[in-house]
Amino acid sequence: MESLYDQDVSNPSDEEDADADAEVVVVVNDGIPSSIDELRPENSNYNVLSEADIRQRMEDVITGLSTVLSVSKDEAGILLRHYKWSFTAVTEAWFLDTIKTRKRVGLSENPPVQFPAGAGDSACGICSQRLSLDGIMWANCAHSFCGNCLATHIGTQFSNPAGGFLTIRCPDRSCGAALSQEVIDKIATEEQRENFSRMLLRSFVEHNKGIKWCPREGCKYAIELSASASTPDVTCLCSHSFCWNCLNEYHHPVTCDTVAMWMCTIFDPEISTRNMIVMSTKPCPNCKRPIENPGDESRVICIAPCYFVFCWECLEAWDIGMSFDHTCNPHNGLSKQIQKQRESASKYFQCYNGWEDNDILKTSALFDLETAKREHIGKNLAKVDLNFLVEAWKQIVKCRQILRWTYVYKYFIPENEEKKIQLFDILLGQAIDTLEKLHSSTERGVCRFILTNSEDYNGYRRQLVKLTAVTGNYFQNFVKALDNDLYEVNCKSDTASIKIE
Ligand SMILES: [Zn+2]
Ligand SMILES: [Zn+2]
Ligand SMILES: [Zn+2]
Ligand SMILES: [Zn+2]
Ligand SMILES: [Zn+2]
Ligand SMILES: [Zn+2]
Repeated sequence: MESLYDQDVSNPSDEEDADADAEVVVVVNDGIPSSIDELRPENSNYNVLSEADIRQRMEDVITGLSTVLSVSKDEAGILLRHYKWSFTAVTEAWFLDTIKTRKRVGLSENPPVQFPAGAGDSACGICSQRLSLDGIMWANCAHSFCGNCLATHIGTQFSNPAGGFLTIRCPDRSCGAALSQEVIDKIATEEQRENFSRMLLRSFVEHNKGIKWCPREGCKYAIELSASASTPDVTCLCSHSFCWNCLNEYHHPVTCDTVAMWMCTIFDPEISTRNMIVMSTKPCPNCKRPIENPGDESRVICIAPCYFVFCWECLEAWDIGMSFDHTCNPHNGLSKQIQKQRESASKYFQCYNGWEDNDILKTSALFDLETAKREHIGKNLAKVDLNFLVEAWKQIVKCRQILRWTYVYKYFIPENEEKKIQLFDILLGQAIDTLEKLHSSTERGVCRFILTNSEDYNGYRRQLVKLTAVTGNYFQNFVKALDNDLYEVNCKSDTASIKIE
């Protein structure tokens, strides 16, 4: 067992305040500093797929089915599209009743009739124009059409907003044969073909349980997560990190369900308005109507017709002779119910602000990280290795993201679990302290070594590298403890200890 604080978490430039607030000791089993990447549970069980990769996967499934059923790839594609890209569904239906299955998806029982016997020329099934065999189009069945009519038919299908055009059928309503890809390719405009190909891609991803599009606007990559992946946290090639399950931002240590509940809470105007009123008003001790916070003064006069005068802090009646520095009654006169409401509203705002503020701090740290990379490391006038500053910024960004969601964790700790809340607050306080030391030290380092050419580079660097590692380690264990629902954490009077296997 080794204390987190056995390692020096002092601010490199302010060593004297190092242990001032380290009374509470977090004890962990392994004190080995983590690398930055250990912060996020390892997840190599996913692939980022480009459109070409997805097309290849589609092609592979089609080829596979065409081999298994001894049908053409065109037919395999039609079958798969009909059965929502499920290989199993197609084969099951096929082997149960091949004829019925062929009919259902629009494949004729026999190979497509291209040149019906005895046909010297033929008429379009729509406009009745007579055409030579060269000018006629066959729709995978015995029906023939002129190019213009077929083009109009395909165009109508493509513009069908219901998107039911993954299989385009013969214009003859009684027929239902699926048009072959060859015919579609010949007739459709380039725009329609591109549109169709995109629709196929989209339907392939949408029906594939293991693949999801990256939710960042405009991103064309998709992520394939293996079924055995230990965590849903993924990072796209566009550098957007998100939870593969719920597509929200990385939200460890809270679950997707908790994220959903949180979003419902904060976007419910009734909840926020109610909390705001609870925090800014107290009931008049005389008429019980809610009276607004008077601001700087403690003395409040209730509205008409009550006009009761009382002390906002303790709700005692304010007698005419009472001085302005009156000492409040410690039992502040609020009913238990109102006190509870105020505690709950105060928790709401504390958690909301912590969640919001850490996002702002993360964004600004990200900006500083990019600036450090672009401006300072590249144009380093001091000619010393400043990559440790980049590593420190990366750590800060990750920790801010974790800290943001720990506030949501706190919000949902049941109110009657007092010990857990108490312990959580201790651990959160330490996490904030540790992170803030790292944050301010890193900011100071940027000023000292980049803007001025300071001499104590080696000492500073050693300390910041250590502080980065200690912060990473602390957050890693903090998250582990929360994953464990603080189960193995014992809270003593002045010592919180985390036992992590
Ligand atoms: Zn026609
Ligand atoms: Zn037909
Ligand atoms: Zn992306
Ligand atoms: Zn999620
Ligand atoms: Zn009143
Ligand atoms: Zn008072």
